[in-house]
Amino acid sequence: MESILYFDYMAVPLYLILLYSSIARGMTKGRSSRIFNWILLTSVIATFSDLGLELLVRTTPVPDTKLALAKFFAYSYFLFHNGTGFLYFLFIYSITNTWYALRKKIHFVIVCVPFAVFLGTLVSNPFTQKCFTVTAESGYTRGPLMTVFYATASVYALFGLAHLIFCIRFLDVKKWLALVSMYVLTYAAVLFQFFNGAYLVELAASALSLLFIELVVLRPDEVLDSVVGLQSWKAYLDTLHKIMITKQNVQVLAIKFINAREVKTYLGEDRYRKYIRLIADKALDLAAAEHLHAELFFEHPGSIYLIIDEHDFDSQKAIPTLIGTVEKYTYDLKGTGAKLNPKVCAIKYPDGLDNIREIKHLGHHFPELMPRDQIFIDASNISKTKEFQIINNMNDILTRAIRDEKFEVYYQPIYSIWDHKFISAEALLRLDDERYGQISPADFIPEAERRGLILPIGDFVLDAVHRFASENELEKLGLSYIEINLSVAQCLERELPSKMEALRNKYSVGPDKVNLEITETSYDNIGDIMDENLKILSEQGYSFSLDDYGVGYSNIQRVSKLPLKIVKIDKSLVDNMNTVSGKSIMNNTVRMMKDINKELVIEGVETKEDFDALRQMGCDFIQGFYFSKPLPAKDFISFLKENNLGA
Ligand code: C2E
Ligand code: MG
Ligand code: MG
Repeated sequence: MESILYFDYMAVPLYLILLYSSIARGMTKGRSSRIFNWILLTSVIATFSDLGLELLVRTTPVPDTKLALAKFFAYSYFLFHNGTGFLYFLFIYSITNTWYALRKKIHFVIVCVPFAVFLGTLVSNPFTQKCFTVTAESGYTRGPLMTVFYATASVYALFGLAHLIFCIRFLDVKKWLALVSMYVLTYAAVLFQFFNGAYLVELAASALSLLFIELVVLRPDEVLDSVVGLQSWKAYLDTLHKIMITKQNVQVLAIKFINAREVKTYLGEDRYRKYIRLIADKALDLAAAEHLHAELFFEHPGSIYLIIDEHDFDSQKAIPTLIGTVEKYTYDLKGTGAKLNPKVCAIKYPDGLDNIREIKHLGHHFPELMPRDQIFIDASNISKTKEFQIINNMNDILTRAIRDEKFEVYYQPIYSIWDHKFISAEALLRLDDERYGQISPADFIPEAERRGLILPIGDFVLDAVHRFASENELEKLGLSYIEINLSVAQCLERELPSKMEALRNKYSVGPDKVNLEITETSYDNIGDIMDENLKILSEQGYSFSLDDYGVGYSNIQRVSKLPLKIVKIDKSLVDNMNTVSGKSIMNNTVRMMKDINKELVIEGVETKEDFDALRQMGCDFIQGFYFSKPLPAKDFISFLKENNLGA
């Protein structure tokens, strides 16, 4: 009976289209994608061989000219067809992030023995002729040992299916179904073929399920970073999640380029992307050279995470090579003068770590927690520190603090050189956590901003300061106004002017009693709402200060255009005053600010020398530990009574 081949004809273009689209969509990175592409390739070859064989042996006797080719196709078909089943089995372990399991000895045996048996049987066939024969007279006929081929293929199918059932707990249902479809469709097709021998549909069935998988499981938009084309941060978290559920031991190498943003601005998006990809490729090459299985992920603007299956891998030894590689390729780009500055942290999981949240936070924050001059740190050296525990538990800390009202506003007096007394103060937030004690606003304010919790916190400060001003008549204490720090999110809040109005009415505190501190980042974010807010608040009589002048890209021209009454010079400029150039920078800054009629607060003055020097330069106000640290409201009032009124 002549076989009907339409379906298998169809499989060939389908595989080719799948392969093409997989590569065109950038699915060439990562182990799963690579295995999938191999599956497509072996499937094409198997189908092609199958068709070739069928067509060549259609008419018997097979002419001698075709016989050798027909034999070749027969061997190639079995090799690649069974190979595909084997690869699909590996694919399941890879796509479910359970690759580690294959590295155990027992699993290794399960993986290798059936394939070895199959290969042995296939290779011995020319001598035994027990699997199949291709002869001129009878064409292609099966032999008794053909069952070995089916049996070994079934072993992989059974184990693959069992593994998928094990993974059902953490796989998305849609994806799970697509993965299982390979077995269901293929075995349905085999059964169909058994009863309808004329129709060859098995290969077409597996082509369809691979189409299903490519559409549902391998979604580059879900796992690839659209800009750089490497596996994304989301894919990283997803992988960590599966690692945790399946209790795997891994090692994560977090590589953070701490000047990535600057280098990116300098190189431009396109060249930066190429640069990062080059470094990523080299990092993977290094891992391959060490015979490690590594998955690489990228997070903007410049972090690379390598998940290495080898938990005990001695990363400390490998780091110099890694850094050397980064530097080498930096050197290649030297025409640009840009140089990425890497910091590396090796995180062993699960040793001592509670959950993936810790890996996530360690990966983000380790550079702040390691010595400045160091490039490499083992996570075990920082994961137990109080600083890291605070970062790791910041969400709980902030939620607790908001719920239990654990915030308190302190006041740091600001001295007026012209009036010889303290005429204002800066309101500075303090947080006393029941578990971790005092936490610096420099730590919790940025975190609150990141987690969208800054608005309620900012509202609390605004309310507390207004209450303070209404309960303690400021004039009687010698104070003109209190400075309040506003975060970017507050500046961008449409309700800010109405909130201020409500507070004015609630506490009968005029706008002249409040000065709002804004940082340069707020000005970078200047948008319609922010513009409008500043305009309305200025019209209502509020004045503004620019905080932290001298740490960003501040320039005098920009400052002169903003509606600012006061400019606050950052402590770092004061700290530099012990050098000749530092002193001259401060001197020039003061002069320029005076030229554009800004009042000047110098922050962070700790010594009499600095105070005297700044007074001589013509500064207006001094804030710093030289006079006082930030004080609780009660102590602040006593301080004023003693220093302002007592004098
Ligand atoms: P900032 O607004 O620049 O506040 C000045 C910081 O310098 C304060 O740190 C203050 O304690 C510190 N400082 C003042 N004089 C000296 C000195 O002589 N030596 C030293 N070493 N430090 C001095 P603090 O209170 O830790 O606040 C850090 C930052 O947290 C603030 O910097 C501000 O950006 C932010 N922050 C504090 N409270 C609030 C708030 O209520 N809202 C917002 N949005 N941010 C706040
Ligand atoms: Mg401030
Ligand atoms: Mg400041």
